[in-house]
Amino acid sequence: MIGAPCAIGLGGNVGDVAAAFGAALAALDATDGVRVMAVSSLYRTDPVGGPAQDDYLNAAALLACGLDPLELLAVLQALELDAGRERAERWGPRTLDLDLLWWDDRRIAAPGLAVPHPRLHERRFALEPLVEVAPRAKDPDGASYADLLRDLPAGGVARLGPASLVYDPA
Ligand code: ADP
Ligand code: MG
Repeated sequence: MIGAPCAIGLGGNVGDVAAAFGAALAALDATDGVRVMAVSSLYRTDPVGGPAQDDYLNAAALLACGLDPLELLAVLQALELDAGRERAERWGPRTLDLDLLWWDDRRIAAPGLAVPHPRLHERRFALEPLVEVAPRAKDPDGASYADLLRDLPAGGVARLGPASLVYDPA
C-alpha cells in the first residue's frame, strides 16, 4: 500500500493499557488504507495536567496512511470508544487516548484536528516514542523532533521494553 507517513501517540492509565494498545494497533493495521509500519517501546510516564491520577503508559506508532487525516482521526476516535473510553474530564484518567501527532510535512488546522499535535513539542511522553519510530521526522517548519526532544528537560518518562511487548503482528 502506498500512503503518507504519519505517526500516532498512544496513551492510557486505566485497566490493561498494554492490551488496549495491542488491540488498537491490530485494528488499525486491519483497517483498509492503513498499515502499521513501526511500533515504539512502551514508556511509563508521569501524568501531565489534569487531576491527581495514576501513571500512564505511552507509545507511538508510525503508519502509512492512504486515508485523509480527518478520516484517520475518526478511526482513532472509534477505537478509543471501543476501548471503553469516556470523555469525562480534560486530561483525566482514560483507558486509551489516540492522538494524531505528525503527518509528513503537513500542517493541518481543521475543526477538531490540529497537526502536528499542538502540544507535541513540549511533551516528552509523546516526543520520545515518536523519535524512536521516526528518528528523522521533522515538523513542517523543518525542526527535527530529535533536536526538539534533546532540548526538553529530562524526567517523567521511563522506557520499559521493546515493541513486541505491545504489538505482535500475526
Ligand atoms: P487530549 O488528547 O489533549 O488529552 P482528547 O483526547 O480528549 O484530549 O481530545 C480532545 C479533542 O482534541 C478531540 O475531540 C479531537 O477532535 C481534538 N484534536 C485536535 N487535534 C488532534 C490531534 N492531532 N489528535 C487527536 N485529537 C485531536
Ligand atoms: Mg487525545
